[in-house]
Amino acid sequence: MPILRNPEGLRSWRQRQRGSLALVPTMGHLHAGHISLLRLAQARAEQVLVSIYVNPLQFGPGEDFAAYPRSLESDLQQLAGHGCTAVFVPGDEDLYPRGATEQTRIVPPERLSNILCGAQRPGHFAGVATIVLKLLHLAQPDILVLGEKDFQQYRIVGQMLDDLNLSTQLLCGPTQRDEDGLALSSRNSRLTSAQRVLAPRLAAELRQLCQLPIGSPAQAPAQAARERLQAAGFRVDYLELRDSESLEPIAESRPGARWLLAARLGDVRLIDNMVIP
Ligand code: AMP
Repeated sequence: MPILRNPEGLRSWRQRQRGSLALVPTMGHLHAGHISLLRLAQARAEQVLVSIYVNPLQFGPGEDFAAYPRSLESDLQQLAGHGCTAVFVPGDEDLYPRGATEQTRIVPPERLSNILCGAQRPGHFAGVATIVLKLLHLAQPDILVLGEKDFQQYRIVGQMLDDLNLSTQLLCGPTQRDEDGLALSSRNSRLTSAQRVLAPRLAAELRQLCQLPIGSPAQAPAQAARERLQAAGFRVDYLELRDSESLEPIAESRPGARWLLAARLGDVRLIDNMVIP
């Protein structure tokens, strides 16, 4: 499994490849959620490129860029063991040679990017859109595979592909969870054991909200769930019912609408979402 360390290495590898290519972008510290995306990619394309890069552009000041878990050696072992074709592991100076502040950015529409996670993390989705577009230009994949876990990211990247007339096909893999329901996340490894015991309540509240009778108002149950989580020790950033396509707020429970949640335990920020069946 070739390990490509910079844009030049990736470009020359790509020129030598024949057959369809799927790209799975990650920030590493891989878990079974990432591996499920690799599997989905392998089912749809002849070759799969996984990128591992903790993108400084999508972290704000005071966020967990420095503390973000990194485990490159074991990530590479896992990917090789699962038959990944190649891995792209660039450094900051390779992707942003002029430095992050001088970098040209892709700015997604405010309607999608200034809400939910974007309201708490200004510039986050511009950082995400920029790195994804750079990866697409470098790797020229036929298919891009993202996870439903980061649903707002999935929607924003989908619109970017559309708006910028990119022909890459976007696939979305379902959220993988631990047995207790907690959505797998690299950040889970930063939870203390007491916080890890609490964390599955996020998924439990989402599941309960998804079971509200169709047509019932969303606001009061959302407020009650938020209060239960705060009482348990979470700091809830948002807990909202939104349209899965437009991400606009929705007042009443209806099939296909989506509950989205972000909450902090200590300095670990967790997100999750579930769709109403
Ligand atoms: P990350 O490394 O957290 O940036 O995630 C890389 C990709 O994996 C993104 O497309 C995520 O949406 C996806 N992903 C993260 N967690 C999960 C999960 N639990 N199940 C499925 N996909 C996930």
